[in-house]
Amino acid sequence: MKTDLSSLDFTSLKAFADSNGLPAYRAEQIFRWISKGVSSFDEMTDISKPLRETLSEISVITQLKTEKKLISSDGTVKYLFTLADGEHIETVLMNYEHGNSVCISSQVGCRMNCAFCASSLKGLKRNLSAGEMLAQVATVNREYSVSSVVVMGIGEPMDNYDNLLIFLENISDPHGLAMSHRHVSVSTCGIVPRICELAEKKLQLTLSVSLHAPDDETRNKIMPVNRKWNVETLIEACRRYTEETKRRISFEYTLIKDVNDSVRHAETLAKLLHGMLAHVNLIPVNYVAERGLYPSSQNSVRRFYDTLQKNGINVTVRRTLGNDINAACGQLRHKTEAAE
Ligand code: SF4
Repeated sequence: MKTDLSSLDFTSLKAFADSNGLPAYRAEQIFRWISKGVSSFDEMTDISKPLRETLSEISVITQLKTEKKLISSDGTVKYLFTLADGEHIETVLMNYEHGNSVCISSQVGCRMNCAFCASSLKGLKRNLSAGEMLAQVATVNREYSVSSVVVMGIGEPMDNYDNLLIFLENISDPHGLAMSHRHVSVSTCGIVPRICELAEKKLQLTLSVSLHAPDDETRNKIMPVNRKWNVETLIEACRRYTEETKRRISFEYTLIKDVNDSVRHAETLAKLLHGMLAHVNLIPVNYVAERGLYPSSQNSVRRFYDTLQKNGINVTVRRTLGNDINAACGQLRHKTEAAE
């Protein structure tokens, strides 16, 4: 089998070069080109043609084919990429005042089955390699200058933990994109053992926890993962994470009409997060036709926000971007595949 160079960390790439009789600077060249988002050895112009041919005989690099590129009126850009095996993933570029942020996928599909999410409608097909994760950032970075990355697109990153760690290492490697982990966010729906493992690594990234309900009764209804690791276990792991890393956790809370948007829910949430290094991000749900869930009214959003604030919780309401191009997680892939 050919070696996937896009998914090797720099040390392993040097070992690959060494075992093939190549000097270390070749590994640097290859790593740099991969981080620049090239999809073939032919684009590595400072490597001689015979060596490029040899490399393509013994190894591969990730190829992403841009299947669709949609640009929203608010500047959000959504890519639908086709992978080498024909699977589709989505990547979204969002413009914020502080720069361009790219939201990448970590799996093809997802097996977590959160009720409000289009990504899991067809289950999990496979994990993305570390190279496929990096290639999303690098490809978008070729067209727009990317200043931050969120691993929050299709998939549960912690369900693809080993590849996630290689990706995190490669994106920050000085031989490539050299992005500080402070500009990287990783989301999770609450895979508790992985949160604890990641805490011990003390990386300076932002952990973003998809909480969406403050009690087991409500959370069990919308997030099956809660039956395995309940709210109490999850929050305990989060507290440990903040203690180990000294980093604030961002709690994502999608507001769904008549499901999790009452004042009682807001009060329970405030109690749950009391005294914790935390921030709550309220998100009006994106309507997913198949699930029959509706966004909370503006009044409910305001009431929820006010209750949290009154109780001393840091809270913001996320601006919804790219509504006109199905920018919410999984919507474009789902619609494309439904139409095929
Ligand atoms: S919200 Fe995230 S974890 Fe839940 S089903 Fe969607 S992609 Fe998976």
